[in-house]
Amino acid sequence: MHFELAEEQKAVRQMVAAFAQREIQPNAGDWDRAHAFPLELFAKLGQLGLMGMSVSDKYGGGALDTISTVLAIEELSKADAGIGVTVSVHAGLTTRIVEAFASEEIKQKYLPKMCTGEWVGAFALTEPESGSDAASLRMRARSDGDGYVLDGTKQWVTNGGFAQAFVVFARTGAAGSKGISAFLVDRDTPGFTIGRVTDKLGIRSSNTVDLTFEDARIPAAHLLGEQDAGYKIALASLGTGRLGIAAQAVGILAACLETSQRYARERHQFGRAIGAFQAVSFKIADMCVDLDAARLLLYRAAWLRDQGMPVIESSSKAKLFASTAARKHAAECVQILGGYGYTTEFPAERYYRDAKITEIYEGTSEVQRIVIARELLGRLEERMQKQRGAQPMSGAVNNGLAGIVEPAAELSPDAAG
Ligand SMILES: Cc1cc2nc3c(=O)[nH]c(=O)nc-3n(C[C@H](O)[C@H](O)[C@H](O)COP(=O)(O)OP(=O)(O)OC[C@H]3O[C@@H](n4cnc5c(N)ncnc54)[C@H](O)[C@@H]3O)c2cc1C
Repeated sequence: MHFELAEEQKAVRQMVAAFAQREIQPNAGDWDRAHAFPLELFAKLGQLGLMGMSVSDKYGGGALDTISTVLAIEELSKADAGIGVTVSVHAGLTTRIVEAFASEEIKQKYLPKMCTGEWVGAFALTEPESGSDAASLRMRARSDGDGYVLDGTKQWVTNGGFAQAFVVFARTGAAGSKGISAFLVDRDTPGFTIGRVTDKLGIRSSNTVDLTFEDARIPAAHLLGEQDAGYKIALASLGTGRLGIAAQAVGILAACLETSQRYARERHQFGRAIGAFQAVSFKIADMCVDLDAARLLLYRAAWLRDQGMPVIESSSKAKLFASTAARKHAAECVQILGGYGYTTEFPAERYYRDAKITEIYEGTSEVQRIVIARELLGRLEERMQKQRGAQPMSGAVNNGLAGIVEPAAELSPDAAG
């Protein structure tokens, strides 16, 4: 075991950090106040290779490993968490799905432009009546001749206002997780309209919209993977997508630590720097410990993915811990800055507003706990079943355990876009 980043990973981190400090961080307050993503940034992010960082070089991508991609999202989020999630949804979720599940024709058409930043991607799973319980989604996709006809609505779609390529989940079969398919929907599809922009507490530079589909016809070639197998695509992609949100939380936490350290050295009260007071310095020490722990969980999960290992449990752990820590310490960062922390003169209040969302999207913290518990109890059930072969257990105990494990699986919490 060693804890050193590879030279290439360090280079990615340094390059993105320098870019973010120069181009993003000085403008983050203005973009937050304007509630707007600076569209001209996409070309710059494309030139840096960040829009196609997870895509193979065959389609113009940078083919970076997962550790490098989370480092990039962390550094972007440290400067502006809204920019971090914009890139995470595009490069950590959507381009990955297109490359893994689209036909060659679709990949050739979309991926090169998505890598340059000319076209942006979005992921549309959530609906007004279906959030954590994503398997209950209602939007329909009816097979019709040589294509599908989409009807329904999607809610809170990050990047939707300017995206060209939408990964959309819709029901092609019976109720439940087995009747859902995934599609690539082009922005220019007749019958597909972009709805209202959502006004929100934080990550205001990130764009969030609703989508409406009315008799929106798409070619059969836009089906991603197999028909009725879309839910598996959602599960697999969110397992990795959550690493992006954990990275976003780590970035916010790192920004809180830097801001708190600087202020604690500079601000004097009672004739001393406030960092000399134990009440303040202990907050900063706790912040630093949680930042280290969040990074270790995140980098381990990213490393596991790079080894081709399953990441469902480890990415949920990383997201749960990092988002809880970001929310908690963003509040402490405001506290350390006192009244100034509450004003827009300093970025602490923005970190405080931005941190909260990391506990909600791509699976709430409650959902992450369900995923982790289910993995643990599922393994326990497996072991017990093996033991039962040699030493049968009573039906009552067996049913008791199933009562914990199976309903959780029914809830399908891995999804929750
Ligand atoms: C700014 C923003 C951007 C977003 N971007 C996207 C996007 O790009 N694409 C997309 O598809 N979606 C997106 N979402 C949607 C997001 O993923 C959902 O909001 C999230 O999954 C939670 O769903 P919900 O809001 O419907 O909450 P609900 O599922 O209604 O949950 C409400 C509360 O009940 C709890 N709860 C629910 N079920 C259980 C359970 N079984 N056990 C314990 N507690 C439970 C939840 O944890 C939560 O606290 C976005 C949301 C926001 C706010």
